[in-house]
Amino acid sequence: MEKQILDGRLVADSVKNSLKERVENLIKKGITPCLATILVGDDPSSETYVNMKGKACEKLGMKSIKIHLSKETSTEELLETIQKLNEDDTVHGILLQHPVPSQIDERKAFDAIDIRKDVDGVTSFGYGQTALGFGKFPSCTPAAIMKILDYYEIPIEGKHAVVIGRSPILGKPVSALLLNENATVTTCHSRTTNLAEIVKLADIVVAAVGKPNFIQGDWIKPGAVVLDAGYNKGNIGDVDYEACLVNSSAITPVPGGVGPVTISMLLKHTVDAAEESLKAN
Ligand code: NAP
Repeated sequence: MEKQILDGRLVADSVKNSLKERVENLIKKGITPCLATILVGDDPSSETYVNMKGKACEKLGMKSIKIHLSKETSTEELLETIQKLNEDDTVHGILLQHPVPSQIDERKAFDAIDIRKDVDGVTSFGYGQTALGFGKFPSCTPAAIMKILDYYEIPIEGKHAVVIGRSPILGKPVSALLLNENATVTTCHSRTTNLAEIVKLADIVVAAVGKPNFIQGDWIKPGAVVLDAGYNKGNIGDVDYEACLVNSSAITPVPGGVGPVTISMLLKHTVDAAEESLKAN
């Protein structure tokens, strides 16, 4: 069977190339698209992710503001920081890096983000809009998965998509986006029984579990498309890549699959938000 390796770097480059002119036009009009990232605590992986996002902005001529708060930060202090960014007209997108330390009410903090600046689709309102099919900014990893399918012209309508994971930033919104595109969607989670049997029915498999090499090769129906959103220590995905390659018709590698596209979608959403702010003024 012919295999297609779904190259996320290629997809990300095409997204970023499509943004260059838009960023230049905004700058000519006196607006530099700006993403503010908030990191609470000193988790090294989160720090790496935030730095990658900031660098990607700057590479494209956008601005990035990095706010690093101590691990002792309270919910109230974080809310104050978010409020200031909400009120700052030079900031177009706000990204609160997940996870935050346990003393913080993460949902309250996410929901404090102004919907116009919710470029990672983390607010309850933004999620609701995504689920209803008119969200401007779905979460970036689900948006990246949809972008990869679109770029490689992989049909979604009428296909059975099985999503493994139901987190608010990944499993649930990607299930909603696939449903909006007329897939028949099954969302699995830690209490799902007969997981292997359900995955075996899938035309499209989305792995969003957070467990290295979790999806097994013999769960994959011949010809299925496999998208691995997982990113575990040591650059290992949630899919046992070599084993799942055998039956799949198309598959994302880790690294170089969903990850780079996620960052490019964050940039796109921030540029979209900057353009919207121009229209509003
Ligand atoms: P999460 O919040 O921990 O959610 C994991 C989900 O997997 C939960 O819904 C959980 O079910 C389910 N699950 C756990 N064990 C399972 C099992 N044995 N069988 C079936 N389902 C099981 O993780 P997340 O934030 O969604 O992230 C998932 C993965 O994506 C991680 O590897 C993360 O690093 C990666 N990620 C990548 C990007 C990127 O840009 N590529 C962005 C975000 C996240 P319950 O709901 O029942 O607990």
